[in-house]
Amino acid sequence: MPASDFEPVIGLEVHCQLKTKSKAFCACPVVFGAPPNTAVCPVCLGYPGVLPAVNREMVTLAMRVALATGCTIEEKSVFARKNYFYPDLPKGYQISQYARPLATRGAVALRADGSPKSVRLNRVHLEEDAGKSMHDFPWQDVPTGVSLVDLNRAGTPLIEIVSEPDLSSAEEAYEYLVLLRRLVRWVDASDGNMEEGSLRCDANVSVRKKGAAGLGTKVEIKNLNSFAHVKKAIEHEIERQVSALEAGQTLVQETRLYEPATGATKTMRSKEESMDYRYFPDPDLGALVVDAAWKADVAAAMPELPQARAARLVSAFGLPAADADLVCLSRPLADFYEAAVAAYPKNPKALANWLLSELLARMSDADRHAGRMPVAPGTLAALVARIDDGTISGKIAKELLGDLIATGRPVDDLVKEKGLVQISDEGEIRDAVAAVLADHPAQVATFRGGKTASFGWFVGQVMKATGGKANPEVVNRLLREALDGR
Ligand code: ADP
Ligand code: ZN
Ligand code: MG
Repeated sequence: MPASDFEPVIGLEVHCQLKTKSKAFCACPVVFGAPPNTAVCPVCLGYPGVLPAVNREMVTLAMRVALATGCTIEEKSVFARKNYFYPDLPKGYQISQYARPLATRGAVALRADGSPKSVRLNRVHLEEDAGKSMHDFPWQDVPTGVSLVDLNRAGTPLIEIVSEPDLSSAEEAYEYLVLLRRLVRWVDASDGNMEEGSLRCDANVSVRKKGAAGLGTKVEIKNLNSFAHVKKAIEHEIERQVSALEAGQTLVQETRLYEPATGATKTMRSKEESMDYRYFPDPDLGALVVDAAWKADVAAAMPELPQARAARLVSAFGLPAADADLVCLSRPLADFYEAAVAAYPKNPKALANWLLSELLARMSDADRHAGRMPVAPGTLAALVARIDDGTISGKIAKELLGDLIATGRPVDDLVKEKGLVQISDEGEIRDAVAAVLADHPAQVATFRGGKTASFGWFVGQVMKATGGKANPEVVNRLLREALDGR
């Protein structure tokens, strides 16, 4: 972006599907990929005369997110009807929370590269998802131009997490979203998967003169279904707004749609076309009351949160902050690490290094989040212990890792079986050194003549002679003695 007098202001509205077994207001299962309209009942189909009932698990999971984001849980919140007409909304309204949300006034601390920053949350509220209109079909018998509706998703529980307009760049918005996803996953409230739609984000973007007190005209961008799209769409929208203002135009408040093919946003509806949802409290659902006992139960079951846990790994084990943060990429990963440390408490730093380099490199992103580890924590612990006690070299350990992953067998068994035990016996190494020197008199003479750069070559020869098993420290020392000592 060209240097300009304008600064961006961004607020995100994040929808997040809660990991309940059943839907928000009926007993239908929450399923993904089931045949259309097989997980439905009169309540989620919007039949007249039915009564919704609040799913307690949904409220509990939302409370976990609220606590994880430092929100205040309101003792009393209210479900409202948000009225609009759309084929995937059989009741003609969505049940949502409006004037009185479940939780208010939280904060998410962005990572402290640069200066630390706290993004305030306005609210976390509960609502239900709509069904899905489908326009493309694998079936021959559906005529072109026909759309069908699948209501399996109707009534799936969601939370909406609304930030204050505290974000100042596309990068910050991206980081906020990554941290939020980690939090909802960390507290087991949601899969947090943007590609599968369990995490969805609308971005509100405005720009204003640098340092101005008020806010500029905002544009809401919809249809952001990947992290990369969120970043690109915001970047593009900032540029569009700045160019318009610099050209002397005025911006209109509107909703725009992100188009991945062009990377641009286009008008969806302007403020004048914006809908009046005629919100009113749902008369079928009384106020949602969270009493002190419920709140206390939920609070007591909260895990240590990622940022606190990373800080503890720094102070307890001396990990660099960046490493501790990576170890806390997901809760199962942090659990794995601490289990490995418990199995071998002597060298937490080496365990972190092995986890972050060798193990993570062999795992997909999904594996990292789900904690699908290639080896057991005890295996990593045993491997690092055998390096530390000199049984094997680090190089051999790296080679061994592939076999450990493939076979799942104990480290010591494989080391023995493959004859990988490191040679630290000085007599044996001294013999190997003597043999190498005897076999290469010309090279020895050159070295002694002052061309000492060939030292590494000698080390290589001794390692080769010992099948790579000689303890490199001992090899170095004995070679020095033999070459220098005459
Ligand atoms: P609306 O009434 O249009 O729903 P809200 O005030 O409820 O707007 O805010 C919705 C979202 O838009 C919030 O995430 C908020 O932080 C963000 N937002 C509000 N005003 C602005 C603005 N001027 N620029 C950027 N984001 C904004
Ligand atoms: Zn149902
Ligand atoms: Mg609003």
